[in-house]
Amino acid sequence: MLLHDLRKDVLAANLELVRHGVVVFTFGNVSGISREEGLVAIKPSGVPYDELTPEQIVVTDLEGRVVDTNLRPSSDLATHLELYKHFPNIGGVAHTHSEYGTAWAQAKRAIPCLGTTHADYFRGPVPVTPDLTPEEISGDYEKETGAVIVRAFRDIDPDANPGVLVAGHAPFCWGKDAADAVHNAVIVEYIARMATHTLVVNPDAKPLARELHDKHFLRKHGPRAYYGQPDHK
Ligand SMILES: [Zn+2]
Repeated sequence: MLLHDLRKDVLAANLELVRHGVVVFTFGNVSGISREEGLVAIKPSGVPYDELTPEQIVVTDLEGRVVDTNLRPSSDLATHLELYKHFPNIGGVAHTHSEYGTAWAQAKRAIPCLGTTHADYFRGPVPVTPDLTPEEISGDYEKETGAVIVRAFRDIDPDANPGVLVAGHAPFCWGKDAADAVHNAVIVEYIARMATHTLVVNPDAKPLARELHDKHFLRKHGPRAYYGQPDHK
């Protein structure tokens, strides 16, 4: 089977979405990329999670042409491909309609960094995209969804901000591989839930001071990171 290990990893990552309660029914999808082969493995469209097997994970090239299996890939494939093309360091993408993350996406509000949990993962707010135009929606919609994310990151580093809220839709997250993308999707949901609660308790809560934000982000990421064990940064 082509890309056996990657397909197994992508299947496991999709099942992790279910285990963490961030997808219902067949909403949500995870992919992973082999940069050497230029091939992407992604969940098939509409297959229930509890029936998924590695053979059913669909492999495509970066233009979306299926190179193995006769199942159709997730309908969001074109969004994933745009992210792989423009964010060269990412190895996995996870999309969910998780409850709180989606609520912020529907509210079209970036999630401000209100605490160190957020600061551990994102160098800034969790960004929100602009709305898609009517032409983008009636055109190549899934590809344009990827393009609007890429535009939202014109001045934002995707390696230091591993997710986004697509306005009126839901989060897309990424990471070094499929499992890491799922990890970040679960974190975005957790951050979104806590930010919601924080603003209920105190609607005037202010973002974390820049110094504390940087302290937490930089102790886990970058050349001076010292959090965790040397092999597990
Ligand atoms: Zn969606």
